[in-house]
This record gives sequence, C-alpha cells and structure tokens, in this order.
Amino acid sequence: MTTASQTRLKPGVVTGKDYQALVQAAKDGHYIIPAVNVVGTNSINAVLEAARKNKSDVIIQLSNGGAEFYAGKGLPDAFEAKVLGAVSAAHHVHLLAAHYGVCVVLHTDHANKKLVPWVEALLTHGEQYYKTHGRPLFTSHMLDLSEEPLEENLAISARILKRAAAIETSIEIELGITGGEEDGVGSDDDDLANPNLYTQPQDVLQAYELLSPIGFFSVAASFGNVHGVYAPGNVKLRPEILKNSQDLVQTTHKTGPNPLNLVFHGGSGSEQSKIDETLNYGVFKMNIDTDLQFAFSHAVGTYVMANPKAFLYQIDPETEAPYKKAYDPRKWLRTGEEGIIARLDEAFQSLKSVGKSLAQ
Ligand SMILES: [Zn+2]
Repeated sequence: MTTASQTRLKPGVVTGKDYQALVQAAKDGHYIIPAVNVVGTNSINAVLEAARKNKSDVIIQLSNGGAEFYAGKGLPDAFEAKVLGAVSAAHHVHLLAAHYGVCVVLHTDHANKKLVPWVEALLTHGEQYYKTHGRPLFTSHMLDLSEEPLEENLAISARILKRAAAIETSIEIELGITGGEEDGVGSDDDDLANPNLYTQPQDVLQAYELLSPIGFFSVAASFGNVHGVYAPGNVKLRPEILKNSQDLVQTTHKTGPNPLNLVFHGGSGSEQSKIDETLNYGVFKMNIDTDLQFAFSHAVGTYVMANPKAFLYQIDPETEAPYKKAYDPRKWLRTGEEGIIARLDEAFQSLKSVGKSLAQ
C-alpha cells in the first residue's frame, strides 16, 4: 500500500508539494518527525547535527518568544524582533540545511489571536522571498485560535490559509485547548475531565470541509496532552480521540484512511505505548521544547559545576593556572549542544524516524 519508501527529496528546506510528500511518507511509514523549538544558532545547529546523525528528517520551529530572542533582547521593538528573528533563523536554516544532508521543515509555533499580525508579517516576508526564490521562507505557520469560538477560529484560519497557500505555505491550526503553559500561550487548566480539553471530531470535520479546498493544513488536536513536564500519572492521553476524528472525516467524505494530518503537542513525558498508538492515527509531527531546554541547561550546568573556578577567575588565584580553555564559551555552549543531541537521539528513536530521511 505504501509507496512512501520510494519518495526521495533533495536535502535542505522542504516546502509545498515536497512538504506534503514528507507528511504523507511519515503517515504511511508510521513514524513522527520531531518538531524542535530553537532559540539560536546553537540549538539550530544541534538539531541539524542530530538529524544528520540519526538519518531523520526534522522540523525546526520558532515560537514568537524564541524568534524574539534570536533577533536579540536588545532590539527596542519587540514585535519587530519577533518578525526579524524568525526571518533571520529561516535564512540560517535555508543556507545550512542542505549541507547536513537531511530534509528540514521550517515552522513557527503557537500564534494566538494577538499574534496573528506576527504570522501575517512573516507571510509578507515569505511573499518577498517567493518572488526571488520560487519557494516560501517558511514551510508552515501555526495559528492557535483555540481560545476563540470555533467559527472565529476557522474564519481567521481560512483567511490566513488563503494567503499562505498562494506561496505554497501550509498552516497548522489548533482545535481544543492543550493544557499547560508554553511561551505564554495555552491553558493552566489541566483538568483532564474537562471536555473542552478534548478535540471534538465534529469540529475537526468542520475544519476539514472549510480548509481542505483552500490549501494544505495540519491540526493540533487535544487528546489529554499538556505542555511542559508533569509528575508521572498526570498525563492521561486518549489517542482514540484522534482515531475518531480521522474516521468521521473518512466516512463522511469517502477519503482514504487518515485523511487528516495531525500534530502532537505537549509530548514530554508521554508513555511510549501512547506514542505508538498515535502512529496509527495519522500523527506526523510531535513538538519537543521543554525536554530540550532541560537537556541543554543540564549539560551546561554539569560543566559549570565541574569547573567552578573557571567561571570565577581567568587565572587561578593560588596556582596561577590559566582557565581560558575552560571558560571559552565555545567549550560550554558545545556541551549544551551535545546535551540537545543526546536527548534528540532518544526522540528520534521513540518517534521511529531513525533512518527514515527522504533526502538523497
Ligand atoms: Zn504546543
């Protein structure tokens, strides 16, 4: 049934039809492509290195806060920084990705109603880039209007998708509210009994009917997932909610299996058996943020604690030994990168994408 194994793409940033092929290959091949939130060249390069090492394609993603940080906290206009930081990061990835020999999807993360202008500004940059390069700057942008009424969520999504699709850009929408906190967007209400936290299949059907004629889109669905890391036992995933949405669209519109492209947010700390289950229900993307923040900081912290004097003195006050080799930022930043790579090794394994790169 699967012809996915024959799909081959050029390494580098994939957009448009190539992105759609990548999504389909993951769904057909029952693996998930990790979407990793980055904040600078250290995290971007570590993600590219980990993807190359694992022969896996990867999604590089910027939150609005990550993009702002990428541009520099000293820029006076925070909105401008969110836009320019994302554009700068995208240029960095466009230049380097092909040299790592894997396919890379460029994505932005949660944008609630206040941040729709951020996505629109990025589309303006995408349109300019498209004119000169024949492809967009970003593969896909996420909207998160799950806190708005469904009609408004879908109306804004349709308007943005129309503009995005004209430059072969995809969007990701969110239906149902993912619990937890991620960069100021999301909900602290993680009451798993709350039906608002579970995406309703009829809402997904309505989104499919409105958006699929306009362009390519994916859906972040809530099935008990929460952002951040919680004590074991607090995350009760119900992947059958994903299956119910797929089944409703399939039977209503007589499509093939798994017509929806689903995204798994808040995957930190999920049981492997639940992840495995989502592989059968058309999930192709899982966001990873919190665990990598810790992986980077833990590695740097371990290094600092092992070399405390190097962070207090250039020359040891007693022995007069120079500490230059130990405090050189390349030394401890590299340790942080290695922390990211080690954690991503686990992620690629867990999501079964090792060796699945479509790049040739
Ligand atoms: Zn999320």
